[in-house]
Amino acid sequence: MNQPETINTSKHDRDRFVALAFCWGDLLFELDVFGTITFCAGPLEAFTGSASQQVIGTQFVDMVSSADSMIFESFQRKTRDKVRLDDQMIRLKRATGAVIDVLVSGYWMDERFYLALRLRGKAGRPPLVNQSQPDFADTETFSQKAGRQIKTLEAQGQTPEMAIIGIPGLDELRDSLDETRAKAVLASVGLCLSASSIGGETAVKITDETFGLLQNPGNDLGGLHSRLSAAISAIAPGASNLQLSKVSLALDVARDLSELDLTRGLMYALGSVQKQSLRGSEVSSISETIFASISQSLSDIRNFRQIIDEKKFFVALQPIIDIRHGNIHHFEALCRFDISLPHNSPYQYITMGEEAGLIHEFDVAMAAKVIALFKKLPINNQKYSVSINISGFSIGVPEYVDALHALLQENPWTQGRLLFEITESYRISDLDVVNKFIQGLRRNHYKVCLDDFGAGAASFQYLSALDVDVVKIDGSAVRNAQKATKGRAFLTALTELCARLGVKTIAEMVDSPESLAFVRDCGCDYVQGFLFGKPSRDAADFHPLPNLKLFR
Ligand code: C2E
Ligand code: MG
Ligand code: MG
Repeated sequence: MNQPETINTSKHDRDRFVALAFCWGDLLFELDVFGTITFCAGPLEAFTGSASQQVIGTQFVDMVSSADSMIFESFQRKTRDKVRLDDQMIRLKRATGAVIDVLVSGYWMDERFYLALRLRGKAGRPPLVNQSQPDFADTETFSQKAGRQIKTLEAQGQTPEMAIIGIPGLDELRDSLDETRAKAVLASVGLCLSASSIGGETAVKITDETFGLLQNPGNDLGGLHSRLSAAISAIAPGASNLQLSKVSLALDVARDLSELDLTRGLMYALGSVQKQSLRGSEVSSISETIFASISQSLSDIRNFRQIIDEKKFFVALQPIIDIRHGNIHHFEALCRFDISLPHNSPYQYITMGEEAGLIHEFDVAMAAKVIALFKKLPINNQKYSVSINISGFSIGVPEYVDALHALLQENPWTQGRLLFEITESYRISDLDVVNKFIQGLRRNHYKVCLDDFGAGAASFQYLSALDVDVVKIDGSAVRNAQKATKGRAFLTALTELCARLGVKTIAEMVDSPESLAFVRDCGCDYVQGFLFGKPSRDAADFHPLPNLKLFR
């Protein structure tokens, strides 16, 4: 009894949905997974000259102008990823050979691709790709996708290649166009290169005229030049004489790295290449720079990974001294990577770890090592504390925060005896997150110090947003204050400000009796510097404290 009614209802529903879809589009299509048209509704003949029934069973992409076929394929791929995409502009071919601009929206459901097409309102406007669409993936997204593809190919026994494509004259061409067309040209280049890359998503912009893309071994990228020329000349007629140059190299340097470390290495390499001024250089020299940078970055990451995993680093201690009495207030724990060179600064390694995104793993390993050492040292009595450096980068990584909290919970005896110094070598972006982290430590009786004050431009911003117990004035700022005419006034004002905020001050790099007298006059509470010994693995080196007489 109910059967016919159900059929009626579903037909009614279908008609209703089609009618609703027509509220936006003039033409509706359903495609199967292969892009074959299985349904078409709307006045197709008026658009292209072909009747709806004629196109059933054909490929939708065959209706699209050849200059836009890649744009459409990329749109289709992205819709599958994101389920829905709107307002892509493409051109359809008319039977007469002319083209017609349409806006497309796509929806992916149950292995079917639904398309609604709408005639562009204003005739005669230049056909453009969607303005809101980014031309290339950012470096991070590219590195993640490339890292995944490289690992997949490696698992299949293949060695992927990285092709560096130069399009000399592209910059000049874009300069000669209005802003909209200039953007559209870059977006077309992005789409064409992405479409030729592995997975359709592994292309990256290196300079304004140089691009990198991951490709299958031996792929000669045939057809890329003609597709690119067609896409560009559709936006900028007369620009068809652009030449491509290409260099490719096998990426067989990453087999021993995890996907994550490989991604970090690619990001780090591209970041350092993009910082260099390569504008106008030949593709061959740019590609040499890129490949050298990738190989250097992966080797740096490999070494740093080994340092972390095998705990191949050491702890050196340097005392922080109460300026009034000369008592050691606590020791700063500084990492060292070569036991035979105890005075070699780790700074370069640390900044590399920050830029490559694995310093947080090191910071946890260092904290664990310091705690283990602290348990064994002769300073293991209630009198001394040790401070541990934390990169601002690490605080933004939840795995680091969890691991540090777990470590501290396992060692509750460290409460009141460990301090943490937040270093400024990495620009902190989310001050709220950092302040929450700091307050969590302080609630658990760990004092927190803002390190490197005065070394960067953001020190006062950090001091105002972060509630800390101590500010450590960077050695360079102490030195500059001694040299500059207004230095004394500035440093005194800073220590007064800190005193008002209830924050103690440490002056760093105090290496002469004169600098000790200077920072004392300026009101600093504590000092640290070579005047009282260089960092050492043996805390006994500071008993008795060198130059203790300067406090008497
Ligand atoms: P920092 O935290 O500001 O550490 C103080 C630096 O000043 C140390 O350099 C120390 O050796 C140096 N120093 C102290 N007194 C004097 C002096 O009188 N003259 C001169 N010229 N230098 C002095 P070091 O050990 O080379 O460390 C450099 C930086 O590396 C540290 O600066 C810190 O930012 C970073 N670092 C060290 N260990 C770690 C760590 O475990 N984790 C993180 N994230 N960073 C660390
Ligand atoms: Mg420090
Ligand atoms: Mg410092």
